[in-house]
Amino acid sequence: MAKNLPILVSSPNIKYTNDYIFANYDYEETLVIRNEKELVAKPYKKSMHIRTEKKVPKLGIMLVGWGGNNGSTFTAAVLANRSKLTWNTKNGTKDANWFGSITQASTVKLGIDEKGFDVYVPMSQMLPMVNPNDIAIDGWDISPLNLAESMARAKVIDYDLQQKLKKEMTAMRPRPGIYDPAFIASNQADRATNLIRGTKHEQYLQLRADIKSFRDRSKLDKVIVLWTANTERFCDVRVGVHDTSDNLEKALRNNEHEILPSTIFAMAAIDEGCCYINGSPQNTLVPGIVERAQKAGVFVAGDDFKSGQTKIKSVLVDFLVSAGLKPVSIVSYNHLGNNDGKNLSAPEQFRSKEITKSNVVDDVVSSNQVLYKPGEKPDHVVVIKYVPYVGDSKRAMDEYTSEILLHGTNTIVVHNTCEDSLLAVPLMLDLALLTELFTRVSWQEAGRDDWCSLHAALAPLGYLLKAPLVPAGAPPLHALPAQRDALAALLRAALALPADRTRLLHTVWL
Ligand code: NAD
Repeated sequence: MAKNLPILVSSPNIKYTNDYIFANYDYEETLVIRNEKELVAKPYKKSMHIRTEKKVPKLGIMLVGWGGNNGSTFTAAVLANRSKLTWNTKNGTKDANWFGSITQASTVKLGIDEKGFDVYVPMSQMLPMVNPNDIAIDGWDISPLNLAESMARAKVIDYDLQQKLKKEMTAMRPRPGIYDPAFIASNQADRATNLIRGTKHEQYLQLRADIKSFRDRSKLDKVIVLWTANTERFCDVRVGVHDTSDNLEKALRNNEHEILPSTIFAMAAIDEGCCYINGSPQNTLVPGIVERAQKAGVFVAGDDFKSGQTKIKSVLVDFLVSAGLKPVSIVSYNHLGNNDGKNLSAPEQFRSKEITKSNVVDDVVSSNQVLYKPGEKPDHVVVIKYVPYVGDSKRAMDEYTSEILLHGTNTIVVHNTCEDSLLAVPLMLDLALLTELFTRVSWQEAGRDDWCSLHAALAPLGYLLKAPLVPAGAPPLHALPAQRDALAALLRAALALPADRTRLLHTVWL
C-alpha cells in the first residue's frame, strides 16, 4: 500500500494557524428564473470563509440499542481494529478492517499529477478527524445482556473473533433503556427487562444523567448519541406537541402519549450539548427537535442507515433516469431473520420502513421532465418478510422495469445478500466521525465578522441515510453519486479547493 502523505494546500486562499485551517471559498451556482418565454440561467458566486478547528477531541459514542446486532457488531469492530486482532476461519486467518466505511476505506480525488493522472487521498486524511481507535463506547438497551452475550446472540461475528473479544465485551453492559409498547412491536416484549421506569420527563432526566456520567467517567470532550434501536411506529405529529421546542418540552412534562422514546433520547442528547443521529426510519426528528438542536448549536441527522438495497436503488434509478430510460415499475422484496426483521414483521413498524424506502426515487424521477409528466411516478412497491433461519443475512431482490426506445421494455433484476450489520456498522462510524468533524467547521460570508455553524439538520450526511433530513423547505437529495459529490465538495471547500465536477475536461483542452 502506498504511504499516506499529509496534504498541504498551496494557495493564497488558505491559511494554516496552530488552531485552525482558514479557507476562502467561492460557492458557485446558477440561478434559474422562469418567465413566460424562457428559462433565464444566471451563474452567481457567493464568496465565503470556512474555518476548521484542528484539535481532534476525545470522542464518546452512545448507542441506543447497544445490545442489538448493529450495536454489538459496532463494538466488536472498534475493538478488533483497535487491537489489530487476527482470527481463524475456514478460509484462513483474517485481520480487522473498516471496509464499507467511506472515511476509513474510501478515497477522494485531490487533483491531477503533472501527467494528468488523478491523485486520490483517503477521506480520513482530508481534514483532521477522530481516529476510530480512540473512541469510547457506551449506550442503552432494553435487553440486559452484556455485550459479549449480545454479540453471540447476533450471530454476525466469526466464532474465533468472538472468543478473542469475549473478555473485554463481557465487561460492557448497557444502561437501562426506555420501553414503550405503544411504539415498538409487541414481539419485543420478552427482551424488555432492562428499563428506566417513571414518567417521560423522569426518563429524560435519567438519560441526561447517563450522558453526564459517561462523559465524566471517560473524560470526554464530546459525546454523540446514535439511535440503532428498533424501528418505532411513526408518531402522529401534532401542532402544540411536536411543532416547537417549547411545545415539545411542555408535552414531555405532561407525559404526552405521542412522544416517541427516540424523541426523548434526542431531547436528552441535545440538552446535554450532544449531536443526535437517527439510524432508523421513524419520525423522531420532528420540527421541535430541529429547532431545539438549532438553539443548542448541535446537529441532528437521520433517518435510517442507507446500507444495502436502498443504496443500490439510489444508484440504479439515478443511472437509468440520467441515461434517458424510464423506470416504470420498481418492486423490492426482502427477507431477513434478525431481531430487526422480527420487529418489522409488525404492520405499524413495517409502515415506517416502507415510507423511508419508498421516497428514495422521488427526486431522481422529478429531475427528468422529458420522461415523466408532473406528478407521474413509477409503481414502487416494498415487501419485507421475516424468515428467522437467514438471521442477519438479509436477502433483497429488486426488479426494475423501464420503458426504452419506442415503448420497448428493459427489466433488470438484482439479488443482493446484504449481511445487514456488517454493512450498517461502517455507516454508523462514518456518521459519528463526520458529524464530529462538522461540529468543528464554521463559515462566514465574506465581509462579515460572525462565524456560523453548519445548519443543525446535517444534510451532507445524506449519502449514509435513506431519508436524509434537510432544513425545512429544502429539497431532499437521494441519488447516491450526487450525495457523495456533495460530501466531497464540502471537505474540499474547507481546504479552499473547488468542487471536483470537471473530471476528464482537462483532456479536451489538451
Ligand atoms: P436489533 O433488533 O438487533 O437491535 C436493536 C436493539 O435495540 C435491541 O437490542 C433492542 O433490545 C434495543 N432497543 C429497542 N428499543 C429500545 C429502546 N427504546 N431503548 C434502548 N434499546 C432499545 O436491530 P439491528 O439489526 O441492530 O438494527 C437496529 C436498527 O437499525 C433497526 O431499527 C433497523 O431498522 C435499523 N437499520 C438497520 C440497517 C442494517 O443494515 N442493519 C439498515 C438500516 C436501518
